[in-house]
Amino acid sequence: MATYTPMIEQYLRIKAEAQDAFLFFRLGDFYEMFFEDAILAAKELEITLTGRDGGAEEKIPMCGVPYHSADNYIHRLIEKGYKVAICEQMEDPSQTKGMVKREIVRVITPGTIMEGKTIGERTNNYIVSVTERQGLMALAACDLSTGELYATSAPSNKEWLRDEIGLYDPAEVIGDPELLDWIAGQAAPLGKPVVYTPWAKAKEETARTQFGEAEWIRLESERRDNISVLVGYLSETQKRSLGQLTKISAYEPEHFMILDPFTRRNLELVETVRERSKKGSLLWLLDRTETSMGSRLLRRWIDKPLLQKTRIEERLEAVEHLHSAFILREDLRGALQDIYDLERLVGRVAFGNANGRDLVALKTSLRQVPAIKDLCGGSASFTLRRIASVMDECADLAGMIDTAIADEPPVSVRDGGIIKTGFHERLDELREAGVNGKRWIAELEAAERQATGIKSLKIGYNKVFGYYIEVTRSNLASLPEGRYERKQTLANAERFVTPELKEKETLILEAEEKMVDLEYALFNELRERIAADIPRLQKLAEQIAEIDVLRSMAAVASDNGFVKPKLTDGYDLVVEQGRHPVVESVMKDTAFIANGTALRKDEASILLITGPNMAGKSTYMRQVALISILAQIGCFVPAAKAEIPLVDRIFTRIGAADDLIGGQSTFMVEMADIQIMTEKATPRSLIIIDELGRGTSTSEGMAIAQAVIEYVHDRIGCKALVSTHFHELAHLEHSLTGLSNYSMAVQESGDKVHFLRKLIPGAADTSYGIYCARLAGLPEEIIGRAYGLLKGLEEKAPQLAGTGTAVAIARLAAEPQAKEDAARAVRETAVAAAMTEAMASTEAAAVAEA
Ligand code: ADP
Repeated sequence: MATYTPMIEQYLRIKAEAQDAFLFFRLGDFYEMFFEDAILAAKELEITLTGRDGGAEEKIPMCGVPYHSADNYIHRLIEKGYKVAICEQMEDPSQTKGMVKREIVRVITPGTIMEGKTIGERTNNYIVSVTERQGLMALAACDLSTGELYATSAPSNKEWLRDEIGLYDPAEVIGDPELLDWIAGQAAPLGKPVVYTPWAKAKEETARTQFGEAEWIRLESERRDNISVLVGYLSETQKRSLGQLTKISAYEPEHFMILDPFTRRNLELVETVRERSKKGSLLWLLDRTETSMGSRLLRRWIDKPLLQKTRIEERLEAVEHLHSAFILREDLRGALQDIYDLERLVGRVAFGNANGRDLVALKTSLRQVPAIKDLCGGSASFTLRRIASVMDECADLAGMIDTAIADEPPVSVRDGGIIKTGFHERLDELREAGVNGKRWIAELEAAERQATGIKSLKIGYNKVFGYYIEVTRSNLASLPEGRYERKQTLANAERFVTPELKEKETLILEAEEKMVDLEYALFNELRERIAADIPRLQKLAEQIAEIDVLRSMAAVASDNGFVKPKLTDGYDLVVEQGRHPVVESVMKDTAFIANGTALRKDEASILLITGPNMAGKSTYMRQVALISILAQIGCFVPAAKAEIPLVDRIFTRIGAADDLIGGQSTFMVEMADIQIMTEKATPRSLIIIDELGRGTSTSEGMAIAQAVIEYVHDRIGCKALVSTHFHELAHLEHSLTGLSNYSMAVQESGDKVHFLRKLIPGAADTSYGIYCARLAGLPEEIIGRAYGLLKGLEEKAPQLAGTGTAVAIARLAAEPQAKEDAARAVRETAVAAAMTEAMASTEAAAVAEA
């Protein structure tokens, strides 16, 4: 056993409390790390690894970062998914004999970091806790930087838990180890890298006090248990009171549409599949919010479309009024522009790290509230008037800040200059003394010049030597002997002090120190006073965010020609001239071709869509899902008219390149998704399957596809859009009354194929696979050979080849040829109509040249 110096012994004792974190051990102006921490930190932070004598034979590995720039290093470690325990000196080393007392004051973790660039302005940074008790799973999601805390629970179901966690895109998940293990092992895209911390230590009493008895007893016991665990972790890591956590937003899962992580991703709700960027997502299109709070709320709305008609209609009502009131919208925008991130400002006030500038930002924001309240209160919208009627302007808080805090305070809260003159008598006296002292110095300078006759003599100040009289070398001879005591020698000057200057210096510096201390105390007093009113400010922040989102949705609706959807309790989903909002918004040279949708009970609840690649099938299917989601978050929709039933859940099975994550085959992933779908879908769900049955052999794929469609039709009975390259499945239209064939119209002329992007009744009769291969630039030799092979196949077995589909359908369905001919005639007329429309709507509609 090595014997260490007392300091290293102390280090080891403290390190034992923070084994899963880097211990930043404060030594004077540095945070030092030792042993393994030092080796790893040196590597991760690219800083020099040194050694230190610690009593043992070998030097102890050590590295360190300066105290004043530690934040940057801490953030880098947090971003890499590490935790950092900050260990401070709890006593002034100059006043202490022997070892200075040290303690961990806070453990910063990815899910609890509150400051710096690690947490995006327009995104939340959540820590989620998951627990399971007696057949119930509970989840709580907390953003310490904004004070939000959501809680819910449901009968034990891991998929549910995974989906719910996915919504929060957490940085850290804590709780029951078995649950964490399962979630960590899921291929489901959870978003950013997550740190998992098994945690069981609950602090029920702390939680109860934190939220108040009334709030606490309203909660179900499994939710209480969960929050107690979360609070246990937060108090163990943060080691201070968390005044920003004032309320628990508990919710029932069944009040919201369910969207699993795959669906959210496939539909690109908040980020794109490929770049994983916000740009190109639905959120990106809808986000015209002016405030960060609004932006975060909009994301929450998109993540959780509503299932309660009255709530949706309330939002729609406000959007409708704002949609038609351009001036009101612009006035609100103007007022919202000057509102800072109230939620995070309040978070900093509670945490005790707000500075003077934060309080001024709070004041500036609060000053905008009366205008917003007036605008909403005077509007024609019932929803906006309701928000305005309960809006607390917090003018008293703005007033307090205004009387106390300077208009442009410094960043630091410990160097003075924060408090306004006239706010505090004693402070003004000290300031006066300071001013007098400076005046006295100026007078002294004049007097000394006169007495010595040295015109260039001056009095200066620096931190090390204090006040001094400076005389250039050439003038030294003119300085009388005696009174001047030499302090410092420079290249061409000498600095002196006199007894009277020294005496005055002491007085001036004392006054300054007192002044700074007093300012700091006054500032803290005000900060605490505001902290006492945090619930009021949080409520206000919520209302402002809501107004911002409603306004943003109205602006988008107005600029993009969206209409108000009609929400129904029925089954049918009917959209006229629907568009894909995001694809449409990024199209530059061509116009987006609108397509209607009519999914009706028993008549056409399933659309089986065929058509070549690139024809627009998946765009169309996603558009229907997005229109449903938009309607259920209370937004207008891209259509000429829309009648939307409440959809309880959207399932998507849309093949994407990233199916391979987790090492599963495309087919297995597809089957797993479909399994969940068969288990969870209800008649009120919407199912979207793109390219059903791909990824396995033709006949098997086709067989499974047919069986799945039949199951959805006969057993689930929900609305579904299914695209497939098995044209042969078209025969299902005859046996399944609720299924209708549709295809994406294509016009052929010579060796050109023209995508009309128009949905027409009837099945397509070729997949143009080889044609697409040619478009992709494959050598003519391959194309020629492929056409040759296809011809051969068609001659041998017409039912399995592309161009012979018409015949195949006829055979498989054992329908008379006459019916097939009739179907073909209908389709041809539809193609002609679609063409005329497409040509009229755009000159340049995606003409593909061979
Ligand atoms: P598919 O699923 O049939 O292979 P996609 O839906 O991926 O085809 O569409 C291919 C491309 O066609 C899209 O990237 C989009 O640019 C364009 N597109 C799709 N639908 C439309 C439309 N309705 N109007 C205009 N362009 C469209």
